[in-house]
Amino acid sequence: MLGKQKKIGLFGGTFDPIHTGHLRAAQEVREILNLDKVSFVPSGRPPHKNIAHVTSPEDRYEMVQLAVREFPSFDVVDYEIRKEGISYTIDTLIYLRSVEPEAEFYFILGNELFSSIESWKNYRELFQISNFAVITRPGFENLSPRSLPLAIEDKFLYYKQTGNATLYKNSACKLVALIEIQGVEVSSTEIRKRVRLGGSISNLTPKEIEEYIMAKNLYLQEAPQ
Ligand code: ATP
Repeated sequence: MLGKQKKIGLFGGTFDPIHTGHLRAAQEVREILNLDKVSFVPSGRPPHKNIAHVTSPEDRYEMVQLAVREFPSFDVVDYEIRKEGISYTIDTLIYLRSVEPEAEFYFILGNELFSSIESWKNYRELFQISNFAVITRPGFENLSPRSLPLAIEDKFLYYKQTGNATLYKNSACKLVALIEIQGVEVSSTEIRKRVRLGGSISNLTPKEIEEYIMAKNLYLQEAPQ
């Protein structure tokens, strides 16, 4: 008898550093979509950010490792941080599919990024090979995902509503799930700023991450603009 197809969430990000907003979002998406696990994918050299001041991939990866240790259904993928050059989501997805060809992937991202998905490399192909889980990001309510971005709108048809998720399907039978999460309003930017100004970050990220940041003297310098 064939086993049930594994459903894997992929949560890409800079994670500079990982915080309770990321962890809470991953938990909520895992429950709502019934995912077997969520793999965090820290970026190497992020194509969407000014890389001059981004913390080393090794430190960011280490912090994600520390954060997921508490969660049996979470793990970390080191593919992008080990890769030379810019990491594009399309390349990562192709690679991860080759590692687990039987699995069904759900790429998780915030609505503030999804609204400009057409700027991503080979974005049309992304929707041929992966499902997407688009989450509301607290603090970005004006971008609440009630509809699909124009660039992909005509490729998807309304499929169904399950709980807080509105699902759309395309001709490749891939889904886009627009999910209203409860979430936690926190950003890595806020954490970096608080550390630099000597403030507390204890309820914004797990204790181990806070200790790592202090031990490694991260975020003490103001990032060059
Ligand atoms: P920065 O402040 O440096 O821009 P960030 O907090 O946005 O960082 P990223 O690592 O850039 O964190 O985000 C990775 C992914 O997590 C993105 O898809 C982003 O939309 C999502 N995300 C970040 N913070 C939250 C949050 N509080 N709730 C839900 N999703 C979030």
